[in-house]
Amino acid sequence: MDMHPPLPALIDPFARPITYLRVSVTDRCDFRCVYCMAEHMQFLPKADLLTLEELDRLCTAFIGLGVRKLRITGGEPLVRRGIMGFFRQVARHLGAGLDELTLTTNGSQLARHAAELAEIGVRRVNVSLDTLDPDKFAAITRWGRLPQVLEGIAAATAAGLRVKINAVALNGVNDAELFELVRWCGDEGHDLTFIEVMPMGEMGEENRLDQYWPLSDLRAQLAERFTLIDLAERTGGPARYVRLAETGQKIGFITPLTHNFCESCNRVRVTCTGELYMCLGQEDNADLRAPLRASPDDVALEQTIRAAIARKPKGHDFDYSRQKIDGQMTRHMSHTGG
Ligand code: SAM
Ligand code: SF4
Repeated sequence: MDMHPPLPALIDPFARPITYLRVSVTDRCDFRCVYCMAEHMQFLPKADLLTLEELDRLCTAFIGLGVRKLRITGGEPLVRRGIMGFFRQVARHLGAGLDELTLTTNGSQLARHAAELAEIGVRRVNVSLDTLDPDKFAAITRWGRLPQVLEGIAAATAAGLRVKINAVALNGVNDAELFELVRWCGDEGHDLTFIEVMPMGEMGEENRLDQYWPLSDLRAQLAERFTLIDLAERTGGPARYVRLAETGQKIGFITPLTHNFCESCNRVRVTCTGELYMCLGQEDNADLRAPLRASPDDVALEQTIRAAIARKPKGHDFDYSRQKIDGQMTRHMSHTGG
């Protein structure tokens, strides 16, 4: 018998059920990736951040409204103090409404936390890793060190977590390493997804355009060496997958600047301050912190969530044409959590 009679689920105006929530639990990070953050970041005052209890209430409310997959992100989620207690709390919903609890991490703290994450029911982690070259890694992340991340990935694998590597495709940085990354992931048994760099924050227009490496080009290079089999698999997000016939590896391509996934979009995002973004590419958002703090019950919170989903837009609006970036987002990925 189902112990959790579902509330009317969240369905947006375009008949898309909202089943996937990404929550940023902090804006802070122990790295300063060049495409994500300035070196000297002004972080938010602590009082602005949702507390771990508020984050738990929020996730629980969304799960009650039909969210089945939860991804914790940041900033760097594993640098938030007490975060493992939060994971443990939220994990109580696994098998009771929630199908999957997962996280996106830079891997720096995974060596410490991988075993506990596995123990509480996390099955997969996404680890961001753009290069296997220690010097390039240090240059991209500014404060990160490659061996620490490789150690974290090894700990995750040893704990039985499936690791997916996310690599931002960066012209002049990791383009020469394409086949090395593919080979390494194949050897280690990790899936690999490439992400097209997005116009986020104020990373400097020059940099952005110089480093922009379209995944269509990356894909064409792969196709010169491998037979690419398109996979029908869809996640409701901007990822497309192929299998390399020769190795059996699955490779993903995330092209957030295209519009070709909006019709199946099943996701929303909440920032670490409780802003609910209905679309990664649009500014419209709803403040969930106010209803969370206004009342210990979740009536107003649920009403605010429903009202926001009712205005989820049909799609987003990025444009890289004519070497000029329109629709540029003013918020950093570390704020919305990517
Ligand atoms: N700190 C964690 C990490 O790096 O995995 C989680 C947060 S990070 C913002 C989430 C993802 O966003 C990472 O894979 C990162 O590479 C990606 N990202 C950040 N800025 C980006 C940008 N401008 N364009 C494309 N991807 C970006
Ligand atoms: Fe930190 Fe992730 Fe942003 Fe890099 S991409 S600065 S690891 S939040």
